Amino acid sequence: MNKKTILFVFLLFLLNIGNAATVNVRILTTKVISSFIFSPLNGTYIIYGDGNVLTESDASGIFQMTIEGDSILLKTFEKTIGKYSSIKMQAKENDASFKIKSVIPESKVRSYDNHLTVELSPNKKQFLIVNRVDQEKYIAGVVESESGTRTSLEYYKLQAILCRTYLLAHINRHVLEGFQVCDDVHCQAYLNKHKEEDVWKGVIETRGMVVVDSDLNLITAAFHSNCGGQTVNSQDVWAVSTSYLKSVKDTFCVSQSHAKWQRTIPLEDWRSYLQLKHKYPVDDSLLMSNATTFAQPNGRQVYFIDKELRIPLKTIRADFQLKSTYFSVEQKGDMIVFNGKGYGHGVGLCQEGAMKMAKLNYSYKDILKFYYKDVHLVDQTALNYFRLE
Ligand SMILES: [Zn+2]
Ligand SMILES: [Zn+2]
Repeated sequence: MNKKTILFVFLLFLLNIGNAATVNVRILTTKVISSFIFSPLNGTYIIYGDGNVLTESDASGIFQMTIEGDSILLKTFEKTIGKYSSIKMQAKENDASFKIKSVIPESKVRSYDNHLTVELSPNKKQFLIVNRVDQEKYIAGVVESESGTRTSLEYYKLQAILCRTYLLAHINRHVLEGFQVCDDVHCQAYLNKHKEEDVWKGVIETRGMVVVDSDLNLITAAFHSNCGGQTVNSQDVWAVSTSYLKSVKDTFCVSQSHAKWQRTIPLEDWRSYLQLKHKYPVDDSLLMSNATTFAQPNGRQVYFIDKELRIPLKTIRADFQLKSTYFSVEQKGDMIVFNGKGYGHGVGLCQEGAMKMAKLNYSYKDILKFYYKDVHLVDQTALNYFRLE
């Protein structure tokens, strides 16, 4: 490398560290809020209105923000502070956190780490509430929102790596809207700051670690609830083949809570569905008996009965809102029973299987390599560096 390239790599490296430190997350995304309350939980906050310092507050302060015309009206219980187009709550300490509660419409209290900025959407009808938060604290909030608080440290490590990988692969998803990611499942669920100490340990012990494929691209870290005993090739669900999202046999999830399901519908509904939607010859008794005795004894299939018929199981799953495509069909009198396995699309990591593996003392690296083929763990700061080589 010549001097210029070295400098360039170095600058990118610095930039990357800068970017990695904080994330701008839009919170309360799914609600149309016209008034809410902010209050520090820990530490002290400097409160800015349109860039000017208005006041400072510790946990005794409560501030209400309400949309009024084209501006945000800022008040305490005692007095009106003023009207602004942007308000910033800047934490003075690294471990500062705050509470936020929507008043119109009424919703429960949530808490978050670090800073908050408040603006209005371009049409001035909605708040744009953005939590500027340390990346790893954001990851901890996501891990807890996505996997709950009743699993093990090793599983939290794994989930932290996957959530971080997802974040970096989608870091500019909302950049034109003035933030980076939203707190909804559209990006990743981020409903609160973490509460569980093991979640934080899992995040810190894997700090900065992400998963890449053999070309050093961040992987699409797909996961689902339970695969029913076999995961699915990505191309069978999303029509895109990837080197690491390959079907694997999974015995770890088969006695977990979402391993089996059943759904019953009238036989007549099944007949008319096959006839109307798929032009299936339901009047042919032999072919109709195939459609009422379907099974997948040798592992997951992509198509119903026969590939030639071109009826994807994922279409049937969507049309009847079944938990998975891994089902059999059986007739009982004038009813049709779907007996199914697993829950979710089945691609990538099976959460219940992974939780069971973690309980059986498999390491997060073993679990990762079991569900994703030929992947590597790297530090996020190395990504740009490798790409330039
Ligand atoms: Zn989003
Ligand atoms: Zn599984």
